[in-house]
Amino acid sequence: MVDRADVVVVGMGPGGEEVAGRLAEAGLDVVGVEAELLGGECPYWGCVPSKMMIRAANLLAEAGRVDGMAGTASAEPDWAPVARRIRDEATDDWDDRVAVERFEGKGGRFVRGRGRLVGPRQVAVGDEVFEATRGVVLATGARPWTPDVTGLAATPYWTNRDAVEATVAPGSLAVLGGGAIGVELGQVFARFGAAVTIVEVAPRLLALEEPEAGALVEDVLRREGVDVRTGADLRSVSHDGSSFSLQLGDGRPGDRDGGVVRAERLLVATGRRPDLASLGVDALGIDPQLRALPVDDRLRVAPGVWAVGDVTGVGAFTHVAMYQAGIAVRDILGTAVAAADYRAVPRVTFTDPEIGAVGLSEEAARSRGLAVRVGTAQVPASARGWIHKAGNDGLVKLVEDAERGVLVGALAAGPAGGEVLGLLTLAVHAEVPVTSLRTMIYAYPTFHRAVEAALADLHDVA
Ligand SMILES: Cc1cc2nc3c(=O)[nH]c(=O)nc-3n(C[C@H](O)[C@H](O)[C@H](O)COP(=O)(O)OP(=O)(O)OC[C@H]3O[C@@H](n4cnc5c(N)ncnc54)[C@H](O)[C@@H]3O)c2cc1C
Repeated sequence: MVDRADVVVVGMGPGGEEVAGRLAEAGLDVVGVEAELLGGECPYWGCVPSKMMIRAANLLAEAGRVDGMAGTASAEPDWAPVARRIRDEATDDWDDRVAVERFEGKGGRFVRGRGRLVGPRQVAVGDEVFEATRGVVLATGARPWTPDVTGLAATPYWTNRDAVEATVAPGSLAVLGGGAIGVELGQVFARFGAAVTIVEVAPRLLALEEPEAGALVEDVLRREGVDVRTGADLRSVSHDGSSFSLQLGDGRPGDRDGGVVRAERLLVATGRRPDLASLGVDALGIDPQLRALPVDDRLRVAPGVWAVGDVTGVGAFTHVAMYQAGIAVRDILGTAVAAADYRAVPRVTFTDPEIGAVGLSEEAARSRGLAVRVGTAQVPASARGWIHKAGNDGLVKLVEDAERGVLVGALAAGPAGGEVLGLLTLAVHAEVPVTSLRTMIYAYPTFHRAVEAALADLHDVA
């Protein structure tokens, strides 16, 4: 039995939900297929609950800053209200009934199950086959990727899902991976009293961002008592029934990572990758071993097949999935559509201080052959940073394409760094001339006045 629909959307995370909902609202017959929860990783195990954890951890950090600035305060960390808020407010106890009703209220048809392509426009879910007359949209996201480290696979390590579902904060935690998820969650649990060690094989934290960003986060985490092991040589992982042991290095002279890290819990946060093999992409003539689905600038994979979100390997952010969804929707509906443009994708790591970044790093701009000028300003040296005092770590760094006189990248790290990033994202996106940015008026004494100081500092670098 083949069930026909205009569009079949496989995977109903932020990308798929947006595509399916908007097409259903436009009057198309849309089938949305979801293996787990409608809404995907972001609301149930990603952005939303992790930001609730961060909000709680930041409250504790702020309480710690009262001394010497506003009297005295003592805060006793308690994970119970955090776990309760995630269960009750963020996830409805990991129940997607409201989201399913919302989608069905728009006219969509929801199918719970794992979809697999069995033809260019055919998707099998269990015994049912859905055939799409207009197209199939693949939005199956990504799942945690675990490195091939001796012993690791056999241990009961945590992924982001276990960390978000935790009802008790661990006494000690080793975090494998110093990217955004690793440093965010590492700082959270440290602030809730865990002895945290972050193990990163790259020479620095946040390896994809400006080196200043990783150095800043490392410095702050160390001051908060987190043991940061960058450039680590991880040899093996084991679990003895109650705790993990991570064997680092081989004890060579000068190998600062030699030794064993022990912890009650181990969080593996070493990246996320799509699973193309189980999606049946060979039905499209696509190699299932690829790291991501190749898409064109309208998110087309093949005639009548689109892909959006993490499965495309672009960004891995909810806002990118939703941006791509908008393009795919317009393309499917046949309305005018601008090509996808990723020059100004904003990225925020929600540590305290927040690390906001957009566009190219200095090194990336240079490797593209651009004539690069950079300017930096330290947040503590700005009026607002000086006033703020405790917890004022941060900097703004700008990367200018000197030939065109426009910013091609920026880093905004500090309190509210993700908010300061907004104006820099606009500057990179709209290619606002640096001369215009310099003549703009910046409210005194905001954090974003550090942008003005960094503009004044723009200079050639040898
Ligand atoms: C801890 C954490 C924190 C994060 N914080 C942020 C943040 O602050 N800001 C931000 O922008 N991003 C954040 N992200 C990233 C964000 O969650 C993802 O970029 C976003 O969820 C991607 O959306 P998506 O629609 O591509 O995929 P997903 O959200 O992964 O959804 C894909 C869906 O497809 C389903 N699926 C998979 N295969 C099939 C199949 N064969 N058939 C049917 N269904 C299938 C899955 O069950 C899933 O529900 C975070 C991620 C994590 C893990």
